[in-house]
Amino acid sequence: MIEKEYDVIVIGGGPAGLSAATKAVGNGLKTLLLENREMLGGIPFQCVHTGFGIHCFKEDLTGCEFITRLIDRAVENGVESMVKTHVLNIQVHSALEKTVYAASPKGFLKIRAS
Ligand SMILES: Cc1cc2nc3c(=O)[nH]c(=O)nc-3n(C[C@H](O)[C@H](O)[C@H](O)COP(=O)(O)OP(=O)(O)OC[C@H]3O[C@@H](n4cnc5c(N)ncnc54)[C@H](O)[C@@H]3O)c2cc1C
Repeated sequence: MIEKEYDVIVIGGGPAGLSAATKAVGNGLKTLLLENREMLGGIPFQCVHTGFGIHCFKEDLTGCEFITRLIDRAVENGVESMVKTHVLNIQVHSALEKTVYAASPKGFLKIRAS
């Protein structure tokens, strides 16, 4: 089992997770983003139609264009992520302290988050 410690664990690399992780890193928090699919992006990667990004970027983007921008922004801000990593359980110690258990290609992960 691989054990790690982070300030923030974000589960799911869709628009919500990418945005949350980027914000957390911007606030100086050691952050790890976990995504169970082969790549970050979530649902918008399946959407070739426009209708995305109107609030966030003030542009009418396709899902692919929108999510590519969010991924680029996360990478530029130094978000650390793991794909093909499926979160299986969250153990709650207190309102803030949690342990996240996940299966990844590197092995079983036990990640403490403060
Ligand atoms: C057909 C369709 C059309 C849409 N069109 C528009 C549109 O035109 N404009 C618009 O603004 N919105 C649109 N939406 C809505 C938009 O796609 C969602 O609001 C948005 O994707 C939600 O983002 P999210 O990050 O919360 O979830 P998701 O995009 O679903 O991302 C969640 C991520 O979490 C991962 N995940 C889940 N469980 C685990 C786990 N246990 N461990 C690790 N990872 C996990 C998933 O693999 C996924 O990548 C559309 C949605 C659909 C289905």
